[in-house]
Amino acid sequence: MPELPEVETMRRGIASAAGSTIVGAERLACTRRPILIQPRGAALARRLVGKRIDEVGRLGKRVVLRLDSGERLIFEPRMTGLVLVADPPTQEHLRFRLDLDHGPLPHVWYWDRRGLGSVRLLNERQFASQLGNGHLGPDALALTAMEMQERLGRSRRAIKVALLDQRAIAGVGNLYASEILHLARIHPAKRCDLLTADQYGEIHARMLEVLQLAIKHEGSTLSDGTYRNALNQSGGYQNHHRVYDRAGQPCLACSQTTIIRIVQAQRATFYCPNCQKKGQRR
Ligand SMILES: [Zn+2]
Repeated sequence: MPELPEVETMRRGIASAAGSTIVGAERLACTRRPILIQPRGAALARRLVGKRIDEVGRLGKRVVLRLDSGERLIFEPRMTGLVLVADPPTQEHLRFRLDLDHGPLPHVWYWDRRGLGSVRLLNERQFASQLGNGHLGPDALALTAMEMQERLGRSRRAIKVALLDQRAIAGVGNLYASEILHLARIHPAKRCDLLTADQYGEIHARMLEVLQLAIKHEGSTLSDGTYRNALNQSGGYQNHHRVYDRAGQPCLACSQTTIIRIVQAQRATFYCPNCQKKGQRR
């Protein structure tokens, strides 16, 4: 968390900043663990002030402001970061402020409770070397089923683990991977190279379904309450979770058994042993 739907909600929340001019940029005094802000010191404001925001985009789980200079300002929320236009959940975790002119938004804020996220200004060369081809796969919403099979199908990894690999497919994270595989009726430990083209078609279709519905509901706000949209409101997709964080509760699809929690590559996975049989061929 946050994953593609939450970051896409943040992007939409500040999309009207496109066309605005940056008139100020400030790292805010914060007594908590400092976040990574690049470049350091006064250099960031010096390079940002006077630039126009040409586009408010998203790259995987990052919000990307493309500037008229060709540079990109990248907000990467990682675990607990938020991109806001108003009303931060707390003052003490506010990390960075952008002041804007010639548009509807006076400010864009970056807030981060745990401080694992970052704000980075990259020129075109840095962007290509850090986030270009090879570093990040195609966006989950822009990928075809055939491309998904091409990118994952030779791997011996478990499908749940492979879905989290941002170099293969960008945007899917731990929460939505469990939800997608439950809807697709695929066991999370099934090896990628043993899945059929039909099964990739099913995973792909369910991935689009889950991500698009989660975007419509503005993401998932879990029990810790951290994730908020750009107006500091909760998302709504947590009310639609079928397996995530439901260990021991009945499967909503089959009602035959309860949801199981396992750990794969140090991350929790949730699935239904009845709906998602490992040996199953469809
Ligand atoms: Zn079930």
